[in-house]
Amino acid sequence: MLLVLALAALLWGIGVVLGLSRARRWGMVAGLLCIVIALHLILPDGHVVREATGQQAALWIALLLAGFSVGAYGFLLSRLRARARGGSPDPAPAGPFSESELERYARHIVLREIGGAGQKALKDAAVLVVGAGGLGAPVLHYLAAAGVGTIGVIDDDVVEATNLQRQVIHSDRKIGMPKVQSAAEAMTALNPFVTVRPYHRRLTPEIAAELMADYDLVLDGTDNFDTRYLVNAAAASVGVPLIAAALTQWEGQISLYHPAGGTPCYRCVFPERPEASLVPSCAEGGVLGPLPGVLGAMMAVEAVKAITGAGEGLRGRLLIYDALYAETRTMRIKPRADCPVCGGPERGRVDS
Ligand SMILES: [Zn+2]
Repeated sequence: MLLVLALAALLWGIGVVLGLSRARRWGMVAGLLCIVIALHLILPDGHVVREATGQQAALWIALLLAGFSVGAYGFLLSRLRARARGGSPDPAPAGPFSESELERYARHIVLREIGGAGQKALKDAAVLVVGAGGLGAPVLHYLAAAGVGTIGVIDDDVVEATNLQRQVIHSDRKIGMPKVQSAAEAMTALNPFVTVRPYHRRLTPEIAAELMADYDLVLDGTDNFDTRYLVNAAAASVGVPLIAAALTQWEGQISLYHPAGGTPCYRCVFPERPEASLVPSCAEGGVLGPLPGVLGAMMAVEAVKAITGAGEGLRGRLLIYDALYAETRTMRIKPRADCPVCGGPERGRVDS
């Protein structure tokens, strides 16, 4: 037995002379013990080598196992200490993002106003987009690209040839396909790290509020007053902020409506449906192809700002863009006491 201990001490000394690490020196001692155990198992009882090394293998096996236990404990302890110091021994970046996502969102993360915290807020956010048409197309593309974690899209239309002049999320081979399916395919092809929830159906008063309650923000890109009033009333009733834009021919407008946050709702600003002759639909009056691209991209910008808290959004302000004369103007908007949706005694009532 003393012979083995002497050999172990000798190996340790050689390790020190050679400048080997403690782990390697312990490895050499463990190797020696393995050889001794093997000799005990191979050689017959009473063999001179077994007599000189303690006769029984059990002692050495117990010693080896004890050594391994102490080593494993020490390794775990050092990992925990490194983590407590904040310096993980693993050089891979910790946090909610994979390496691929960090690379994808690098240009956001370097922005002081967004950074890692803002990108995490985008990943955690759920945004509902009503309409996958002219405004919905750029909105959905940019929200997916920006890394909004959950994007719902509701629309009951199918892709038609007349859409493709401006609804750039769809493509020629998708004519006849539900717009939400076409948009979902384009979005996940662009960014596989986002979850898209397509709802191929019309938004109705029966489902609107319940659907919106699942989301942090609603974006309205629909093209008629009935649906806009419905979206506004439902979003107001569940207290979810609404970014709504609308356009005609050469002009568009956009704002963020959030009566629960003290701003007017859409109905405060547009209390009455205008005469149909004053606001022709895209089909009747025509619309400049890139115009929904401008307004839709603005909606995506305001959505990213609302989610990350960057800058100053359009709360209480209506932005108007006149494409024909390349002019923008912004006007203050105020809640109306007699608003049937958000003001007066019927505050919070869902009214479509
Ligand atoms: Zn209102």
